[in-house]
Amino acid sequence: MLPPVGRFAPTPSGRMHLGNVFAALIAWLSVKSRGGSLVLRMEDLDTQRTSEEYARVLRRDLRWLGLDWDLETPAQSTRSAVYQQYFEQLADLGLLYPCYCTRSQLHSVNAPHLSDGTYVYPGTCRNLTPAQQAAFDRKPAWRVQVPDKLWTVEDKLQGTYKENLATDCGDFVVRRADGVYVYQLAVTVDDGEAGVTEVVRGMDLLSSAPRQMYLQERFGFPHPEYGHVPMLMAPDGRRLSKRDKDMDLGYLQDHTTAEKLLGLLAFSCGITDKCQPISACELAGEFSWEKLQKADICLDITPILG
Ligand SMILES: [Zn+2]
Repeated sequence: MLPPVGRFAPTPSGRMHLGNVFAALIAWLSVKSRGGSLVLRMEDLDTQRTSEEYARVLRRDLRWLGLDWDLETPAQSTRSAVYQQYFEQLADLGLLYPCYCTRSQLHSVNAPHLSDGTYVYPGTCRNLTPAQQAAFDRKPAWRVQVPDKLWTVEDKLQGTYKENLATDCGDFVVRRADGVYVYQLAVTVDDGEAGVTEVVRGMDLLSSAPRQMYLQERFGFPHPEYGHVPMLMAPDGRRLSKRDKDMDLGYLQDHTTAEKLLGLLAFSCGITDKCQPISACELAGEFSWEKLQKADICLDITPILG
C-alpha cells in the first residue's frame, strides 16, 4: 500500500486555537506514524476575514508545535480559475441550475438540518423556466442537483455515518451569487488534485463528507478516508473556539511549551497514559486510531501554564 497523504487546511483568520491544534496534531500523527506525507493549504475563500499575515503566523505556529508539512499547495483565494473548470464540468453534466432565493426565503422554510447549520433546500428554483429566471433582477447562486441516494462514510473514529443528500441537505450551492466558489467545491478540488488519501478534521465537518463524496464522484477523484476528531470543550462545558483568546497559540506560547501542550492533548484524547511533556515526533511512535477517544474532550489547561 502506498504511504498516506494527509492534509491540514486551516483558515488564516486569526491565531490557531486549541481545536485547530488538536485537529492538526491528529492529521499529522496519522500520516507520520505510517511514513506518509502532509499537504498544507490555506483556506482563505473568505478574503474579508483572512490575510497573508495570519497565514505566516499559522506556519510559524505549526513549526513551533513541531508539525511540519511536505508541501504547501496554492491558497484557495488564488484558485478561482481552476474551480471554474470543475464548475463547468458540473454544468456540462447538466447538474447545475441558478437559484434566486434570498437568505430569508431559505431560512423561513425549515430549521437547520445538518450539524453544520445547513438548511435543507426544497428545490424551489430547480424547475424554473428561462422566462421565470429572466424575471429576476439579480445575480443567482448556482446549485448542484443531488441524487436520492444514501451516502455512507466509514469514519476512522466515528464509525458509520449515513446521509441522503436529497432529504438531509438538498441541492447545494457550489457558486455564490457574488461569484465565489463555496467551500464544498474548493475542498473537493484541492484535496483531489493534491492526491490526498486521508482527510482528518474536526467532528463539526462530518456532515460535509457526503457532499464532498458526491462531488468527488462527479469529478473522477477517488474517495479519501475520513477521520473526524472530537471537539475540545472548556471545563465549563463550552466548545473552545476562536473567541477564546486565552486559549490561542499567542497566549499559550507565552505561558507554556509545545511539549507540555502536546503532552496534555495526547493524554486528554487517550493516546498516552501519562500527562507529561512530549514532542510530536515522539508521539508518532505512540499513535494509533484505536487509542483515540470519540466523544468530545474536556480540556483543562491550567496544569501546564506558568
Ligand atoms: Zn432557489
